[in-house]
Amino acid sequence: MKAVIETRNLGRFYGEGDTLVKALDQVNIVIEPGEFTAIVGPSGSGKSTLLQLIGGLDIPDEGKVLLADKNISDMSGQELSDFRRDHIGFIFQAYNLIPVLTAAENCEYIMLLQGISAGERKARVYQMLQRVGLEGKETRLPNQLSGGQQQRVAVARAMASRPDIILADEPTANLDSKTGTDLLDMMHELNKNEGMTFVFSTHDPKIMERANRLIHIEDGKVIEDERRN
Ligand code: ADP
Repeated sequence: MKAVIETRNLGRFYGEGDTLVKALDQVNIVIEPGEFTAIVGPSGSGKSTLLQLIGGLDIPDEGKVLLADKNISDMSGQELSDFRRDHIGFIFQAYNLIPVLTAAENCEYIMLLQGISAGERKARVYQMLQRVGLEGKETRLPNQLSGGQQQRVAVARAMASRPDIILADEPTANLDSKTGTDLLDMMHELNKNEGMTFVFSTHDPKIMERANRLIHIEDGKVIEDERRN
């Protein structure tokens, strides 16, 4: 099967001379369609940097990122932002919902930018909010939802735009342990039932257990790449 994402000799450096930090160094990974991958490693190991680079939110100092066979490291400006919008779904630690929009409107927003028709947008919003267990809460504003519910809206929003891959940077960091594992179980269900490819970072052992591939990074390097069934 064709890879969704491939990194080739990926590197990102900060500072120079004595203060040079190789946040990522010579990272080569291939993410296959349908994988449910956790990037794991201690704080400061390079997890966020890796997700930012593979999502086209940051530019590498060395190497490249291929997404759907396109070299995103060569894109810039409008081309990169259109490509990101159409191919990548993001879930952040801090949910990043728009506070003045309802749950349904937050889900709809990216599809609006994609030029999807009103009828199709509405159908997908209701379907996705139902899939993440938020039926009946479509008209709530973010501050009328719990943290776990807000993160479910973020998952529904990412899924609704039908990206090739969803990237989640510590998606459970602000949730209590039970809410966090419930959210991961739900993402895993979406992965199994819809074949959506997920890559997330975490340092929570309970969440690592749920991944079928673990990529361990330390000091910016991949030290172990473990596939499990
Ligand atoms: P993690 O997500 O695993 O906690 P990060 O990717 O955030 O790790 O950071 C990796 C390394 O790169 C750390 O040493 C961090 O201090 C450094 N780093 C990340 N972003 C910057 C930045 N904007 N400026 C300087 N150093 C940075």
